[in-house]
Amino acid sequence: MADSTAPRKFRRVLLKLSGEALREPGSQENISPPIVEDMAAQIKAAHQTGLEIALVVGGGNFWRGITASNKGMERATADYMGMLATVMNSLAVQSMLEAMDVPTRVQSAIKMDNVAEPFVRRKAMRHLELGRVVIFAAGTGNPFFSTDTTAALRASEINAEIVLKATKVDGIYDSDPNKNPNAVKFDRVSFHECLTRQLKVMDSTAFSLCMENNMPIGVFSMNEPDNIRRALVGEHIGTMVDAKG
Ligand code: UDP
Repeated sequence: MADSTAPRKFRRVLLKLSGEALREPGSQENISPPIVEDMAAQIKAAHQTGLEIALVVGGGNFWRGITASNKGMERATADYMGMLATVMNSLAVQSMLEAMDVPTRVQSAIKMDNVAEPFVRRKAMRHLELGRVVIFAAGTGNPFFSTDTTAALRASEINAEIVLKATKVDGIYDSDPNKNPNAVKFDRVSFHECLTRQLKVMDSTAFSLCMENNMPIGVFSMNEPDNIRRALVGEHIGTMVDAKG
């Protein structure tokens, strides 16, 4: 049951989970059910506050188009395979959420009526209003794009207030923290500063879309327990990128 008195900052958010987030580090399995279960539990906890949640799940735990194309495969075909990988991940997340009685809909950008609804913007917004978690599968439906771009695009389309990007690092640094022990993490940073300092937040297409549509991006680490829930309810963890900085 949604508890509209529970604290939350946003009304509607889009959470981007990389495909790698679903895999247990070092495991042969592409999807770890216990990890997806934990994610689902956190999403459920945030959902119970009355928050409207849309998800974009990547596919990198199975397949990345660019990697295969560097090894001789046609890029567009390899990218379609990557988009199909995101559908598997989306179904895994859906399954765990539904097992916890969270109503969901998967909308696919590539038509596959037997497993998912087609992406229809107005329908997605209606689902969100009715308290369903909407999972956008199959990326944008176009090769040569990423699921970060999908997240930026869908967030703008559904009038989300923010894109929350769960990553391996705990925010955006002025230099690579793996290489520079003195790297400093930003609490907030503007789109403009990201560009001038060449900070890596998302790929350039995704970043431009967010900047042009004034869509804030919250970058946080998914490796800390409970961080997905905390980010969803609007706790300031990681780095916030917006117009003001
Ligand atoms: N992809 C694509 N178009 C899209 C989204 C994704 O072609 O709109 C393909 C692309 O090959 C990409 C793969 O799907 O490498 C998996 O997505 P991504 O690499 O963004 O997943 P993540 O790194 O977030 O797990």
